[in-house]
Amino acid sequence: MYKNVESRKQALLDQRAQARREGRESAVEAFLRRGRSAQESLSKRLAILDREETLDRERRADLLVLMRQSVGAPRRVYHFAERPCGFARGRGFAEYLEGDLSDSLDRCSSCRWPMVLEFAS
Ligand SMILES: [Zn+2]
Repeated sequence: MYKNVESRKQALLDQRAQARREGRESAVEAFLRRGRSAQESLSKRLAILDREETLDRERRADLLVLMRQSVGAPRRVYHFAERPCGFARGRGFAEYLEGDLSDSLDRCSSCRWPMVLEFAS
């Protein structure tokens, strides 16, 4: 039995060493997974911000418009911020770029919108 003790001790130590190797490997794998996941979220977030920047560059030529902020009554029109009609004077209006508004909204017919000259080619 005694001669067996050394080899049993060695087997126990080998077993522990193997468990530590596996523990290190799984710790590194978990770290790498978190790193990849963090990198993916960062890339997605940066891509969203890049798209917003591109949109804003396109919006640079847009008109500044006013839209009523009151809740309740449905909003169907928006007003021209530079020369608003009487309906849009006063508080309760927020400024937007025209391109940010939904297509279901229309320009107020009372505001003095800039003339757009279109040349047929
Ligand atoms: Zn108006």
